[in-house]
Amino acid sequence: MIIAIDGPAGAGKSTVAKKVAEKLDFLYIDTGAMYRAVTWLVLTNKLSLKDSIDWHQLIAEHPIELRPDVDGYRVFVGNQDVTEDIRTPEVTSLVPQIAGIPEVRRELVQLQRRMAEHHDVVMDGRDIGTHVFPQAELKIFLTASIEERARRRYHDLLEKGYHPQIDELRDEIALRDKQDQERDIAPLKKDDQAELIDTTGLSIQEVVDRIISIFRKKVRTS
Ligand code: C5P
Repeated sequence: MIIAIDGPAGAGKSTVAKKVAEKLDFLYIDTGAMYRAVTWLVLTNKLSLKDSIDWHQLIAEHPIELRPDVDGYRVFVGNQDVTEDIRTPEVTSLVPQIAGIPEVRRELVQLQRRMAEHHDVVMDGRDIGTHVFPQAELKIFLTASIEERARRRYHDLLEKGYHPQIDELRDEIALRDKQDQERDIAPLKKDDQAELIDTTGLSIQEVVDRIISIFRKKVRTS
């Protein structure tokens, strides 16, 4: 069974998806972390996007893995734990460009489909309901106002010891959404069958409860 959770940056997808997966005993797969891991590879190896890069080979030689652990999961590229390194501002600002490359998407989508072959999964991203699993049993599109999303990101970063400017965060989120919505291949958009949940003013638990209740109703009636 597949629960697809898509939506713009900072809508709370990963926090919510992780909790939904825990509650249902499904595997949680954060596809954003996979695009970030490829971006981290590009930056670490100082690859230039102007050169022709063999993406298949790069990803085959540096396998990306999401390894479950007590707090959720750790992200590995080869033997290296990159869980924190993929969240830097450098990776965040370059990732939409890398995610717009058709060969990168082809490789990662293949991997995502393979990861779900032997498990029930909750997968979050931008194109899960529209492209990766159009047959998903449940599709959710999570959103929130840009002010709320910038506020959440601001508090996340403060907790991590950064001193961000809220205006800059709002601009960065708006730019990333625009790039994700306007790319040619598998752009961010709500699937017709997806349930829209606006999380502005809702707590994480309220959103989780809503998704579980939609899921239970669906399973009962199918
Ligand atoms: O979810 P997160 O914000 O970590 O995703 C980082 C970036 O990865 C997004 O801004 C988008 O460019 C890309 N992405 C994507 N397709 C997905 C998941 C993420 O293009 N399924």
